[in-house]
Order: sequence, then C-alpha cells, then structure tokens
Amino acid sequence: MTDPWPVIAGRYSGRLVESCRGAFLAGGPLSLTAESLATRTNAPLTEAAALLADLAAAGLLQARAGFVCPCERRLELDEPSTPACSECERVFAPGDEPRPETFFERHEPPTRDVPWVLTLHGMNTTGSWQESLAWHLATTYGHSVPVFVYKYGVVRPGVLVRFRQRQLVRHLVQRFRVIQARALGAGFGGRPDVIAHSFGTWLLAQALLADSSIEVGRVILAGSIVRPDFGWAPLIEAGRVEAVLCHAAGRDVWASVAVYFIPESGPSGCRGFDDRARIHHAFDADFSHSDFFDEARMPDVFEHTWGPFLSVPGDHVSAAVPARALPEPPWRPPPRLLRAGLLRYGALGLLLTALGLLGLWLVSGFVCCLPA
Ligand SMILES: [Zn+2]
Repeated sequence: MTDPWPVIAGRYSGRLVESCRGAFLAGGPLSLTAESLATRTNAPLTEAAALLADLAAAGLLQARAGFVCPCERRLELDEPSTPACSECERVFAPGDEPRPETFFERHEPPTRDVPWVLTLHGMNTTGSWQESLAWHLATTYGHSVPVFVYKYGVVRPGVLVRFRQRQLVRHLVQRFRVIQARALGAGFGGRPDVIAHSFGTWLLAQALLADSSIEVGRVILAGSIVRPDFGWAPLIEAGRVEAVLCHAAGRDVWASVAVYFIPESGPSGCRGFDDRARIHHAFDADFSHSDFFDEARMPDVFEHTWGPFLSVPGDHVSAAVPARALPEPPWRPPPRLLRAGLLRYGALGLLLTALGLLGLWLVSGFVCCLPA
C-alpha cells in the first residue's frame, strides 16, 4: 500500500493532519469522530469528517456507526434501547437522547502495557477526574489497569507553609513505598506510570529529589507547577523516570503565579520545560489550569495525547506527541526575593501593621492619661 500521508498532508490543514498523524504513529487502538477531531484542532467539522473518510478509504481506519451519550461517552450500538446511560446513569428523556455518530477505528492491541497508575491531584481537584481516568484506562487496555489515587486531604492554607510542604513530601515518599510493595505483591510490577495535576506535580518532583529509591514509569504532568528548569535529565539518565509528558495550557493562570507562593515551583504548566530534547510536550492554547479533566474534554485528551504517550513503544514516544508552539526556553525565574515570598511578605506586612496600630494605641492612651 502506498503511503497516503503525503496526499492527505497536501489536502488538509496542518494542525488537522498533525493531530491524526500523531495518533497513528502512537500505534495501538484508535477511535476518532469528526466532532472530536474538529474540536481538538479548531478545524471545520466538514474538513475533519472528510479527512477521516479519506483515511477510511485508504484502509487506515474502519468506519462504524454508534451512539454518544450527552455526557460524551460512547455507548454500545444496542444501548439506546436501554433507558439510561450505563456510565453517567442519565435517563434518556426526549431532547436528552444519545446522538448517532460515526466512529473511525483502528483495532490494534496496545503496544506498551501500562502496569499500574498513580494519580496525584491538585489542591482543588480531589475526586472525579481520577475516576474518569480509571474508566479510560480500562476501556483502552481491555483490562482494568489498577489506579491508585494518592490523597493528601483537601486544600488548606497550610499547603502554602514550608513545614507542611516538607511533611507532605515525606508522606508521599512513605506511601509510595507501601503502595509499590503492594503492587509488586499483586504481580503488577514495581513502577507505576504517574498522572499528576497542579500541586501533585510539585509533590512528585520533590519526592523524586528527596528519595533516590523512588522510580516511576511514564509521567504525565497537567497544570504543572514544577520549575521549567527542573533537573529531569539526571533522573531520566539514571533510569528512575522513564519519560515525561508535560501537557501545557495557554491560559493556566495558577501555573504562572505559583512561583510567588511555593518554593521550587514555576510555570511549566503554561510554558513547558526548558529541556525540550528530553521532555515531551503537548500544548492546548485555550485550556486553563484544570480543563484537562473537564467532562467534555477528558475523553479527547486521553484519546489523542495521554493514551498514546502511555502506550507507544519506548523509541516512538517523541513521535506520539508532536511539538507545539511553546515560549522559547530558557525560563528566567523572577528575582530570588520574590520567589515564594509573597506569603511571607504579606504575613510580615500584617504583623508590622498590627504592631504599628498597637504602638499608636499605647501612645494615644498614654497621651490621654497625661495631666492637662
Ligand atoms: Zn452518559
């Protein structure tokens, strides 16, 4: 069969072709719809549909009719005859019914087995995305991939205090050892792939620095607040980290300001890491800090970016995740005094104000007591 990609590249817009090609190079199973492709690439729906039809005509994909629940999950063909979605339990009322959709599929076994997955959430996202992720992992790999959800409690202002941060890192290191031993005992292999968000990315980076016995497989960082000049190279070269994907977001405000509040943090969640040779990057210009886990976006993020990154064989990882427009490295950190200092200066300012007011009150009281 002749290579259809040169013809396709000449016929459709660059981003559309790049997105499809990346998914193809990743190997493994694939299921695309015109709508998901158009949304992802900002291409007109008709163009995305035409490209998928061309790929099907070239024998690269097989078209199959199906249905999608309003929750954006795919239903099995016979499921609209049942009264409710088996995933979100939505009852299909008139006006809120599954819509018919054509799925363009490739049936290939996953090319790398995902052993088990450790998820580390951010400060404000304790729950549902991790369940949704477990669902995607199970449906992609055809068997349930164990997902361990690491919990460190809900947001407290204490997370911004250095002592509490060290405590959280120590706790993660201890828990990691326990979970790892359990996974080994259950025959899942010792190294998990890790998916971390926001403060979870920082915790992971600090735990890797704090304890040299921690070893992980592939790492996905979303809404990352790890310093862009973080030293991944020695960790990767020592084999303690297999590969890293930083999924950056163009509108991630929290990633851009974290450096002023949390020590050893920085805006890799919006500008990526300086080490473009070793760290793989994906970029969504219109995503903000937690949009990856949005119910409507998560399936697409997993299908096109995270899934391929986890399942592609080792020597193809970079091809699976095409480079996108990120600010040029290197990152220049703000002056040392400002880094992680806003909170301390704020506290100091409050203390000085309180002392000043107390002084004023004492002096005024003293003045009033003087004999006239
Ligand atoms: Zn549903």
